[in-house]
Amino acid sequence: MQIVRHSAPGYEEARIGRVFNARRPSRYPLAVVMARNTADVIEAVQLAIRSNCRVAIRSGGHSWAAWSVRDNSVLIDLGEFKTLQVDPAALRARASPSITGKELNGRLVHEYGLMFPGGHCPDVGLGGFLLQGGMGWNCRGWGWACERVEAVDVVTANGDLVHCNKDEHADLYWAARGAGPGFPGVVVQFHLSLIKNPVFRSSGYLYPICEYRRAFDWILSLTPGYDADTEITVVAQYPEGREELCLFILLVCMKPTAEEAEQALLPAQQSRPDGTVEEWFCKEDSLHAQYENQGKANPDGHRYCADNAYLANETADVAAVLEEAFTTLPHRKAFALWYAMDPCSRRPLPDMALSLHSDHYFALYTVWEDATDDERCTAWVQGVMQRVASHSVGAYLGDSDFQARQTQYWSEENTQRLTAIRRKWDPEARICGYLGMEYVSSTRPWRDGVGSTL
Ligand SMILES: Cc1cc2nc3c(=O)[nH]c(=O)nc-3n(C[C@H](O)[C@H](O)[C@H](O)COP(=O)(O)OP(=O)(O)OC[C@H]3O[C@@H](n4cnc5c(N)ncnc54)[C@H](O)[C@@H]3O)c2cc1C
Repeated sequence: MQIVRHSAPGYEEARIGRVFNARRPSRYPLAVVMARNTADVIEAVQLAIRSNCRVAIRSGGHSWAAWSVRDNSVLIDLGEFKTLQVDPAALRARASPSITGKELNGRLVHEYGLMFPGGHCPDVGLGGFLLQGGMGWNCRGWGWACERVEAVDVVTANGDLVHCNKDEHADLYWAARGAGPGFPGVVVQFHLSLIKNPVFRSSGYLYPICEYRRAFDWILSLTPGYDADTEITVVAQYPEGREELCLFILLVCMKPTAEEAEQALLPAQQSRPDGTVEEWFCKEDSLHAQYENQGKANPDGHRYCADNAYLANETADVAAVLEEAFTTLPHRKAFALWYAMDPCSRRPLPDMALSLHSDHYFALYTVWEDATDDERCTAWVQGVMQRVASHSVGAYLGDSDFQARQTQYWSEENTQRLTAIRRKWDPEARICGYLGMEYVSSTRPWRDGVGSTL
């Protein structure tokens, strides 16, 4: 186990080298532990206990607000802890949390013809993604990715290793599906159920932004009842090679056969409004190609500010509520997204911490390069979100920064249950938890930089 202490050579790289967002935080762990296996994680937790400091965790490093970088902590970096075992006959896999969606599906698709509906971005770690719920491929039809987590192995805040599923330590298993960065332990293994890799076909419709209302209203009316194996997304963006802002409507259909996919994509093709500047119907596609597009839209080495909202199902005019967001992007690399969640949002969820969603997922991904744009871009996000928030019922943890804005993330009942589970499993608030919402579970008044030497 490698420990890089504050001020030691390599500390800065260990602190933030694997953080995706180039807006680096001014927070300084006391030490970074490069854990390679479960024994290292246990040792790192014990080190934090002995040193009277907290535990922070990093799997893929993709949380927008760099939640892993915390003051007064031992940061357990799981980047070198990579294990993946697949049981293709049972449609099951066991994966360590730093395995990314692309790494997981790279093996599943090519070696076994299987798939796990992980995150859209290729490099997001399973750890942060699944603990939040996981808005994976075709979430509207296939449900939340955490619904395919059958068990988790967890190193607790005491340094014990426990296996959690619906029968053993069921409360921790409940929390592992939706607690997000407040999960009161370190997950070292996810036990996943898999699906057969489907055929991918996509249809795309690119409209000039002057057609915003007509195009958006069309897809909003088309979505309820639309084929449940088709992911439906509306994005405002400046497409590569074009000067003007556009509205891009993408339907990605994932079916057992190409024929079924074509049938599923036909109603959209037949009803689309005219006026596209570019379009395609039922193009041969793949997970690999989709990952490439996502990677291009979210480039490395850039500065990001993300926020999101679930618009209330009763929102009378969704396109009007989102018009400012979709038509005034502050930077050519920024984009705004609406992601259809119906029918997933209309069925009862399993008993798990994740408990909030709606038909309309809306998110801003503001991307820029230059630090001089920080204030302008973040102010734009804050302003837009302030106006959208009154139409929302809450937000998804995965695209949130509690330091910038706080809202509802779980049902009232689940918030209370989660708080009780956190207190039971981590009474000392050893695990850092929600950055900016420490009060949710802290039973102990941690203050930055106090109480520890390493
Ligand atoms: C480009 C991009 C695209 C994205 N696309 C999607 C998407 O399609 N769908 C979606 O749902 N989300 C998406 N997200 C959001 C993403 O899922 C979250 O940011 C998630 O937290 C990232 O997980 P990570 O492990 O990479 O991050 P990290 O920063 O490593 O982890 C975030 C936090 O989660 C907790 N955590 C992580 N691992 C563990 C563990 N093993 N045990 C206990 N706690 C842990 C810790 O509090 C940690 O600080 C995207 C993010 C980015 C940057």
